[in-house]
Amino acid sequence: MTYERSSTLFKAAEQVIPGGVNSPVRAFKAVGGTPIFINQAKGPYLFDEDNNKYIDYINSWGPMILGHAYQPVVDAVIEATKKGTSFGTPTEIETKIAELAVNMVPNVDKIRFVNSGTEACMSAVRLARGFTGKDKIIKFEGCYHGHSDAFLIQAGSGAITFGSPNSPGVTQGTAKDTLLAEFNNIDNVKQIVESNKDDIACIILEPVPGNMGCIPPKNNFLQSLRALCDANNILLVFDEVMTGFRLAKGGAQELYNVNADIVCFGKVIGGGLPVGAFAARNEIMDYLAPVGPVYQAGTLSGNPLAMAAGLAMLSALNDEATIFNELEEKTKYLHKGCSEVLTKHGIKHTINRVGSMMSIHFSDDEVKDFQSAVKGNNDKFKAFFHGMLNHGVYIAPSAFETWFITNALSYDDLDDTIAACDKVAASL
Ligand code: PMP
Repeated sequence: MTYERSSTLFKAAEQVIPGGVNSPVRAFKAVGGTPIFINQAKGPYLFDEDNNKYIDYINSWGPMILGHAYQPVVDAVIEATKKGTSFGTPTEIETKIAELAVNMVPNVDKIRFVNSGTEACMSAVRLARGFTGKDKIIKFEGCYHGHSDAFLIQAGSGAITFGSPNSPGVTQGTAKDTLLAEFNNIDNVKQIVESNKDDIACIILEPVPGNMGCIPPKNNFLQSLRALCDANNILLVFDEVMTGFRLAKGGAQELYNVNADIVCFGKVIGGGLPVGAFAARNEIMDYLAPVGPVYQAGTLSGNPLAMAAGLAMLSALNDEATIFNELEEKTKYLHKGCSEVLTKHGIKHTINRVGSMMSIHFSDDEVKDFQSAVKGNNDKFKAFFHGMLNHGVYIAPSAFETWFITNALSYDDLDDTIAACDKVAASL
């Protein structure tokens, strides 16, 4: 494969955009080389500016769960666009998508739409603080909740990839209110709660972290957090930006049968347009302006194009009961196939998977938290990434990200991916 046009476009981009990208993980800085510039995408495939074709396992970092240019979403956006792109007034479609979302998600009565996962998590924490009258929050090492200040403390995703889990620019004042805990270690969380009695507004987590690879919650960790929150008047906030409408209709809450107090969404909920949302029971949501005192707003929030895309996406997921099973079966098949060929070539690895989220770690130790995730062999990952890319398989250019499986993939695509993994493994 050649990447000439991507190289030229990247050089031009670097002159006017920091690092040539509008979000750091898109740069290939962690793996070396030039990021590929995509020209178009359809179903499970990406096509770059040099006319190379790839099977896509990033899927816009999650939203394209039914494939790229999914026709009902494309049609809905085109129809909405003809009527005007933004009004800054209420529209009927906002209520329609809100009704559908609160129906699909357990334990929530109301939802507010924003423009990104970052906004959703940032607003959820403000709401939790306003509702409880407490300041501190607990977050977990390696979890990523967007780039608002309170979360850039031992953050995952691009923040670990680029070596700044604690970003400069976040003040000491802000950092002191974010307490850090170890994922899957309930005793550690209990100790932190014990030593900050009466100060903790919420515990926020990705119920299945996907920003340090994919980490399954173990030993009823989520249930134990629920009990700890109940006993200490702390709100439990699930950041379901990745897991929402992906692991099940009702996300991780449904899959693990654990109720959170506030749930954050992004990615799938917008069908590929910029949408985030947060949802909770009435008593919490009614703390928000204009009903309650906690302020939160957005010029483009509930934008008609974004809502049209989101409604088409959620409707498809709601109507087709088999989608989540199909996704799970495809991901299991991929997991098994990749594991077999890596084993055949004697490559040490661990594959973590929950539903249609999966990650390959180049270490045979269990990967269950941030410390174990960073132990993987990064040089092997780099070689694996470039090998897969050269064989037409596009995975995230970082060892700390999840593969997002789309239901547009056929079993032939999965076999092609496993065959690519076989060839790459032979060369590692
Ligand atoms: N939470 C999680 C779990 C995420 O994975 C992300 C983005 N990868 C965010 C929040 C932030 O979302 P956004 O990039 O839309 O601001």
